[in-house]
Amino acid sequence: MRRIAVIPGDGIGPEVTAEALRTLRAVAPDLEFDVLDHVNADRYLATGTALSDDDFARVASCDGALLGAVGDPRVTSPDYARDVLLRLRFELDLYINHRPAQLLHDRLSPLRDQGRRPIDCTVVRENTEGPYVGVGGALRVGTPHETAIDTEVSTYRGVRRAMEFAFARATRSVCLVDKANAVPHNGTLWQRCFREAAALRPDLPTRHLYVDAAVMLLVQDPTAFDVIVANNAHGDVLSDLTAQLAGGPGTAASANLNPQTGYALCEPVHGSAPDLAGTGRANPLAAVLSAALLLDCAGRAEQAERIRTAVRTVVRDLRCTADIGGSLTTSGAGAAVRDALHGE
Ligand code: ATP
Ligand code: MG
Repeated sequence: MRRIAVIPGDGIGPEVTAEALRTLRAVAPDLEFDVLDHVNADRYLATGTALSDDDFARVASCDGALLGAVGDPRVTSPDYARDVLLRLRFELDLYINHRPAQLLHDRLSPLRDQGRRPIDCTVVRENTEGPYVGVGGALRVGTPHETAIDTEVSTYRGVRRAMEFAFARATRSVCLVDKANAVPHNGTLWQRCFREAAALRPDLPTRHLYVDAAVMLLVQDPTAFDVIVANNAHGDVLSDLTAQLAGGPGTAASANLNPQTGYALCEPVHGSAPDLAGTGRANPLAAVLSAALLLDCAGRAEQAERIRTAVRTVVRDLRCTADIGGSLTTSGAGAAVRDALHGE
């Protein structure tokens, strides 16, 4: 992986992406970047499309991508997300959403006062199917008999490839989370695919939990989990919970992947946080750690680990933004990471 597309996007996206990019340049000087500054809400509002076909081709021709955030309070239509992020996810077939949640420092855990041991797990979320496929409709709209239908779709191929990734990542255990007791057709398929994948890794402990039980156990004992595999909707919610247990939105990173083509689009879990845009208060570490994930996906584990070590150092030393206990600005926190890289 050598060429990276960069979409800074909206809100705090450009501010945090600038720090991620500087960090990447510091650890991987051989990478080349194609920065698409213009893919944002301003352009969407002016032209009705943010990511043109040419832009899409530019992003697709790179080996991976780094995204800041897409979202703007002036744009209320869900079509904007479809235009950019969902288009990239679907057309590049980025069928895995991989969200590691590893506590950077004890003080960041909301469970610290309960004496709980720290979270270190990964949510593997199926990223292209489930209730997010857009199949459905509305009947008799505006009448007392209005009926809304969204259909949850899982395919054998889609679930199997999610399972393959989950089992390949796991070192301690894999937990399937679903709601098979209430959504039986999808549940049956997921459980069969889970058993099939488990049979190929008989050494690995497995577990099945309904999503309601899983969220309780995650808070009660996060160390019970290594890899959690779940559908698009449950994975979305579970990974926000694990992100919070690991230190909050300022530090949570994610990768949208196609393990077969090797394409990775990495982005912070947080959105454009319009309340923070332009204030210098946005924490750049989620974006910086997303850059580290991108390096991981590129087989550059050593460079990725250098970034993570630097991040752990600045968090420990309170050289960070206010949301995680420091008093630095976005650019100050980014500079601190680069200092820590050089001081290692
Ligand atoms: P979007 O619609 O793009 O998802 P949003 O309004 O949902 O945007 P998020 O980005 O999801 O906002 O963040 C929700 C809140 O979390 C923000 O209002 C902000 O206070 C906090 N937050 C998010 N990202 C960061 C960050 N990088 N640093 C500090 N706080 C953050
Ligand atoms: Mg949001």
